[in-house]
Amino acid sequence: MKIYNTLTRKKEEFVPLEPGKVKMYVCGPTVYNLIHIGNARAMICFDTVRRYMEYKGYDVNFVSNFTDIDDKIIKKAIEEGVDASVISQRYIAECKKDMESLNVLPATKHPLATEEICGMLDMIGKLIEKGYAYNVNGTVYFRTNKFEDYGKLSKKNLDDLQAGHRDIKVAGESEKEDPMDFVLWKPKKDNEPFWISPWSDGRPGWHIECSVMAKKYLGDKIDIHAGGEDLVFPHHENEIAQSEAANGVHFAKYWMHNAFLNIDNRKMSKSLGNFFTVRDISEEYDLQVLRFFMLSAHYRTPINFSRDLMEASKNGLDRIITSVVNLKHLVETSSVDNILDNEKAKIDAAKEYFDKFEAAMDDDFNTADAISAIFELVKYANSNSTGDNSKQYLNVLISDIIKLSSVLGLIIVKEVEILDTDIDNLIAERQQARKDKNFARGDEIRDLLISKGITLEDTREGVRWKRS
Ligand code: AMP
Ligand code: ZN
Repeated sequence: MKIYNTLTRKKEEFVPLEPGKVKMYVCGPTVYNLIHIGNARAMICFDTVRRYMEYKGYDVNFVSNFTDIDDKIIKKAIEEGVDASVISQRYIAECKKDMESLNVLPATKHPLATEEICGMLDMIGKLIEKGYAYNVNGTVYFRTNKFEDYGKLSKKNLDDLQAGHRDIKVAGESEKEDPMDFVLWKPKKDNEPFWISPWSDGRPGWHIECSVMAKKYLGDKIDIHAGGEDLVFPHHENEIAQSEAANGVHFAKYWMHNAFLNIDNRKMSKSLGNFFTVRDISEEYDLQVLRFFMLSAHYRTPINFSRDLMEASKNGLDRIITSVVNLKHLVETSSVDNILDNEKAKIDAAKEYFDKFEAAMDDDFNTADAISAIFELVKYANSNSTGDNSKQYLNVLISDIIKLSSVLGLIIVKEVEILDTDIDNLIAERQQARKDKNFARGDEIRDLLISKGITLEDTREGVRWKRS
C-alpha cells in the first residue's frame, strides 16, 4: 500500500511502526458552528483511509480531536451570554450527528482540548526546560530557530519566512525574540475562560493541543498524521517542532493532506462565508450522495462543489443501489437454493473487480478508480444474473457489491422498512405469547417494534399501533 507523504513529497510504501497496527491522528474541527462540507471532505477522506486499512486487516487506533476552546468559540459565547462550554458541547453534539449521517465512524477517541490542559502544561514546561520555549510577561513562545528542522514539512526556509516579517522586527513591535516564534500559552483577557499555569492564568495556543493529544492517546511516534492542506503550515509544522523538541524522536512517519473543497474555485470556508453546511445539503440530498461525491475525486485533487456533480453522484450511487435491489428481487423469485457449478466459476471471475479495487486503493487511496471498479462489478452482476440463477449465487453477488461499497463507507442497503402486515403479525404473536405467559418473547417483540419506530397502545378493542 502506497501513501503520498507530504513530508517527502513522494508516494511511499506504507510500513507501520508496529506490525498489524496503525496509529493515526486527524485534526478535527473547531466547534463554534455546524460543520460545512469542506470539513466533511477531510472527515470522509480519512474515514475512508481508516476503513480501507481495517479491511486490509490492520488494527487502527484512530484519534481525532475537537478544538473546544478558541477565540471564535469565546466570541460566540459572549454574544449568546453563555459559557464557552455550552457552545462547544452544542456543536460537538451536532458534529457527531452529521458524522453519523455521513457514515463517518466515531474515532477510537475524540479528545477535547479543555480536558487535556495538564498534558499541555507538562509539555510546555519541558520545552522551556530544554530551551525550546521562553516566557515573556505570561506568554510562552516556541523558539523556532532552536529547532533545526523547522520548515521540513512545508519546505519553507526560515530565512525567507523571517524576511517576510522584517518590518515587525524593525519596528520593535513584537515581544517575541523572532517573528516566526509562535504561542504555546497566552494570558487570559477579561471574561475569558482560563486555567492556572506557572506563567499566567490563561489558555493554550492551538498547535500545542494536537501535539499533546497525539502523545497521550497514541504515543511519541505515530504512523499517520492527517488534515486538510491548509494545516501544513503553520499548524502541522509547529506540531512537528513541539513534539520532536519535547519528545526527542520523530513524530509522525506519514503526513497526509486532503485538497480543498472549493466553490467557484475558491476554498469553501467559514471566514469567507461561501459555505454550505452538511445540514444544508441534507435538506436536498441523502448524505450518502455527498459522500459519493467526495470520493469520486482523489483526495489530493481539489474539487469544485456544484449541483451538476451532485446530480451525477446521485445517479452513480443509484446505479449501484438499483443493481442490488434487482438482484434481491431475483433472490426472492428464484426457485434454486444452492449454487450451481457454472455459477461458481462466475463468482471466481468476479474477484477480478476486487483486485482492481484494491490496486486503486493501494495506490494512495485512489477512490475514484475504486468506484470505477465497483461500477464494473455492478455491470458484471447485472449481465450475469437472470431468473434461472440460484439464491446462493445471487446473494454472493449482492454481498460482493455491498462489501466493496462499505469499504468506502457507502451504504447501499438501508434497513428495510417494516411492512404493515409484518406489524400485524408481530402484534398477534405478542398477544399469543402473553396468553402463554411467555413474557420474555412478548417484551422482545415490543422492543423490536419500538426500535422500528412503532408504538403500541392497548385499547378495549385490542392493540392499536402507530408509526412515530
Ligand atoms: P477547521 O474547523 O477549519 O479547523 O477545519 C477542520 C478540518 O477541515 C481541517 O482538517 C481542515 O483542513 C479541513 N477543511 C476546512 N475547510 C476545508 C475545505 N474547504 N476543503 C477541505 N478541507 C477543509
Ligand atoms: Zn491539529
